[in-house]
Amino acid sequence: MTSDSTATKTLGPDGKPVVPDHVADAIRTLIEWAGDDPTREGLIDTPKRVARAWVEYCQGYAEDPSVHLSRTFEEVGGYDELVLLKDIPFQSHCEHHMAPITGKASIAYMPKNRVVGISKLARVLNGYARRLQVQERLTAEVAQCIWDNLQPHGVAVVIEAQHGCMTGRGVRTPGVGMVTSRLLGCFLDDHRSRKEVMSLMGY
Ligand SMILES: [Zn+2]
Repeated sequence: MTSDSTATKTLGPDGKPVVPDHVADAIRTLIEWAGDDPTREGLIDTPKRVARAWVEYCQGYAEDPSVHLSRTFEEVGGYDELVLLKDIPFQSHCEHHMAPITGKASIAYMPKNRVVGISKLARVLNGYARRLQVQERLTAEVAQCIWDNLQPHGVAVVIEAQHGCMTGRGVRTPGVGMVTSRLLGCFLDDHRSRKEVMSLMGY
């Protein structure tokens, strides 16, 4: 999705997103389907809360993550070594079960001419994580966005995450993490650069 897809929600006088009736009804239906009574006291306001929580979980649809890389610094003082942001925590949701994916990402690039403020890499990650995702695509999208916008010598993204759909249902394997990586440019082509970045990331 791009920034022109309208995921922006109408806000009520309390500053919170307005939840349309059909959305609240859908969540009530799901509560019933799960086996509970959506009219009991504890669940009365749950449909609204769930709907608003999902606006937050999926905030990424309302933004184009590449905007975070539009302001670059060209004066890098001859610095041409790799830049690494390690173990950035994130939360996403899997597109197959809408279950949480929680994990950490390490993002590195080898600048050519341009660098960005280091917090911007985390913003790019969040822009893609706050959508319905699969871990492989999330990893690839973050790498590609940096590659396209900074045009560096190389990009490396490694994501390690746990999937709620594996830990809480199905095979129920808590503690099992899945690791995905995407290497581009020098990190893909040059054995020494790849070794360096992976060891700095702790792999
Ligand atoms: Zn899943």
